[in-house]
Parts: sequence; C-alpha cells; structure tokens
Amino acid sequence: MAFELVTIPCLNDNYAFLLHNRDDKTTLLVDVPEAAPISHVLDSRGWTLTHVLLTHHHWDHVDGLPELLKRHSAQIIGAQADAHRLPALDIPVSEGCELIIGSSKAQVFDVSGHTINHIAVYIPDAKVLFTADSLMALGCGRLFEGTPDQMWESLNKLMSLPADTIVCSGHEYTSSNARFALSVDPTNKALIARSQDIDAKRAANQATVPSQLGLELETNPFLRAKDPAIRAQLNMQSATDAQVFAEIRKRKDNF
Ligand code: ZN
Ligand code: FE
Repeated sequence: MAFELVTIPCLNDNYAFLLHNRDDKTTLLVDVPEAAPISHVLDSRGWTLTHVLLTHHHWDHVDGLPELLKRHSAQIIGAQADAHRLPALDIPVSEGCELIIGSSKAQVFDVSGHTINHIAVYIPDAKVLFTADSLMALGCGRLFEGTPDQMWESLNKLMSLPADTIVCSGHEYTSSNARFALSVDPTNKALIARSQDIDAKRAANQATVPSQLGLELETNPFLRAKDPAIRAQLNMQSATDAQVFAEIRKRKDNF
C-alpha cells in the first residue's frame, strides 16, 4: 500500500502528522495543536481529511480541532476512557480493540504515564507508530499523571514492534533530550553519532521527528534500563529495570 506521511510543525515545538493512503484516499490527522498549518497542507496536497486521532487530552494536542472542523469533517478517534475530557469522539477506542482506518487495521496501545489514558496507535501497513508524548525521539513524556512503573510498562509495549517502525512523537525536544541522554549514557557510540546528527539537523532548521524504533532502542536512555553501561553509570547494577527507568526519569526532571 502507498502511504505518504507529512510532519507538520505547529505552535512553538509541537508536531501534527498527516498519513495519507493513496489507494483508499483516507487521510488521518494525528493531533491538532492548531488548525491553520494543517489546513494548509491538506489544501496544498488536495487531500480530504477523513480521520483525526487524538492521542491525549492536553490542550496542545486538541485545541485546534474546533477551528479545523469549520472547514473539514472527519471521524474523531480517541480513548474511550478519556471521553469525559476529550472533544466529542466518533470512534472511542481502547487497547486491543479493532480500529479500522480505510483499508488498514490499526493497533491501539494504552500508554499511560504522561497522562492516564494516553494512547499510541500502530499502523502495520504503513510501518508507522504515533506516540505523541509517550515514547518521544530520544526521550519520553514527563509524568504528569502516571507513575514511573506505568510509563515503563507502556514503553515496553512499544519496544517489541519491528525495528524499522517509524516513530512519530509530538514535540521537537530532541536536542535537549540528547544532552540529557549523553549524561547517563556517555560512552554509547550510536548515541554520540545521533547527537551530532541532531545538531546538524537543528542547525539547518530540520525536524528530528519522526525517528525509527531501532534507533530509539539503541540510543534512547528511557528504553535502555537493562543496559549494563547505564546501570554502572547510575550505580544501580542490582536494581530492577523499572527502578532504573524511574531514576532516569527523575534525573531528566532535574536536568
Ligand atoms: Zn502532552
Ligand atoms: Fe504535548
């Protein structure tokens, strides 16, 4: 199947995504930080919006929706368990439910942590995973509502997806994430190389999102609680993976 994925910078540092299927003509929007940049891409590509996925209830992911719906109509997808604090949903979903977008099946994950009932959606036909503020490029979302254990469990659900999965996360935070990652994993050659690549991209005003899951597994400290070098750096050789993750998250909060 032929998909086109467009990353749309919104507000200060948010990203929305459009995934267009050329065969069945569906166009899925993921998150709506603001309407204008999204409308602009739809118009310039000549795509008709069909679906909107809301990953979580934070204003910077949903507030553009009313304005967008003045000019476009779409089926709104979001977590059933969060329906009370999301815009009106046409397709309420939960982990493990069957979500069909055009001719493609999508997999829904509960990735609570940043918020409770944050969802991630994986579309195998497109090899794309929308993670917003759960798994992020070289990072993970701050724990506003959930516990470290919850976020660790959420990230583990995503880690076993194919390594060539494209990870679409919600913000351009990668430069500061890289500086932190190097502080807990300073000898990781793949991380050092990625950090240089990020500096070059940002200097050229390019997005560092999306990324690939395989690269995240090699370089993102929040997925690497098992790694002996990180455990040694933190002096946590005999801790559980969840404890190591919690320590990394705490250090990032104070970085
Ligand atoms: Zn958020
Ligand atoms: Fe956000």
